[in-house]
Amino acid sequence: MQPAIPDNEDERLEALRGLDILDTPPDESFDDLTRIARYIAGTPLALIGLIDADREWFKSVDGANLEEAERGQTFCAHAILTPDRATYVPDAREDPRFADNPNVVDADPPTIFYYGAPLLTSEGLPLGSLCVVDHRPRTLDAEQRSAIDALARQAMRLIELNQREGQLRREEEEREVILAHLEHRNQELEALAGELRVRADTDKLSRLGNRAAFDARLEEDLVLTREHESPLSLVLLDLDRFKPCNDRFGHQVGDRVIRTFADILRSISRPTDFIARYGGDEFAIILPLADRRAAADVARRVLEAVEAADFSPCDTRTSVGVASLEPPRRDDSGDDLLRQADEALYAAKAAGRGCIAVSGGETDTIRVVERSGEGA
Ligand code: GH3
Ligand code: MG
Repeated sequence: MQPAIPDNEDERLEALRGLDILDTPPDESFDDLTRIARYIAGTPLALIGLIDADREWFKSVDGANLEEAERGQTFCAHAILTPDRATYVPDAREDPRFADNPNVVDADPPTIFYYGAPLLTSEGLPLGSLCVVDHRPRTLDAEQRSAIDALARQAMRLIELNQREGQLRREEEEREVILAHLEHRNQELEALAGELRVRADTDKLSRLGNRAAFDARLEEDLVLTREHESPLSLVLLDLDRFKPCNDRFGHQVGDRVIRTFADILRSISRPTDFIARYGGDEFAIILPLADRRAAADVARRVLEAVEAADFSPCDTRTSVGVASLEPPRRDDSGDDLLRQADEALYAAKAAGRGCIAVSGGETDTIRVVERSGEGA
């Protein structure tokens, strides 16, 4: 007799496939169960079989070498039709379900005795059975049957545990992949943030600090030098008659002049100095720990370097204003220092350009100390 298809076949197959057990490699834990089942029943054969759409697939076989069988000919396909109890067939030849089964009639050796305990999911869906088989009629006592039933429950628990373990492993692997991605992304973002920070503080054309960075640095250095009672100087530089150079030779030449001038400032400054492009053709050097004399020396070196540099086709010169706080007092502000340096710069321009003027600080005097090309 052909086994019927259970009413809940779709649901049953979905549950079976969801357990990821079909076509998995041999597993000793399942083989232990079939070996014990065979021992308890005293049969030549014990199997753990799962009913797939068209076949019975064996997770474990003790006593034969079987992988799968055609569903319609298996005892197990009948067994899943009565999921609430074991299928107990002492003599298949006398059971109408199996009397004409090829495994009973034609096979050598034939299947005569069968006891199959159902493998049920937690929702009660029958997936297959753990069964013991003999080639002759026999019986099992109640204790044997109960022990086989218990083994079937263990087999089912093992299937579910394996599935959960596999799922956790996959989730763990997924998590690791996601973490690696995030880590990578994080590094990219950190690099980008660093780059943006530098970019936000840097003037694009001259690659010197910009006005915002200058303001922040001046405040920092003011606090530091005040704390240590050390001098703080500021050198302001403005290119002389830069506008005509631009107008005559074009903006690109003007840009080149700005870049060359920036290179000169970089080559002259110390690591503790901070150089900024303060405005269009105006530059600033903050010199912590440098007094008025030291700052004027720096300004002098700039004039010399400008003199020696090639700005062609422009004949570029610069005017320089120097101011110092020696050291900054509590009520001195960055604006005070800037104003003094700016006044000195204005004086240098007024004195004919190409020269340095040093603010006298408290005395409010401004001294023009050097003119380009005239020496100290
Ligand atoms: P002064 O001697 O009084 O400083 O006169 P100046 O011609 O240098 O005039 P001023 O400092 O007032 O003008 C600055 C000029 O700088 C105006 C503009 O043509 C030029 N400039 C400002 N920013 C840029 C820039 O990014 N690139 C170029 N090529 N020129 C700029
Ligand atoms: Mg200028």
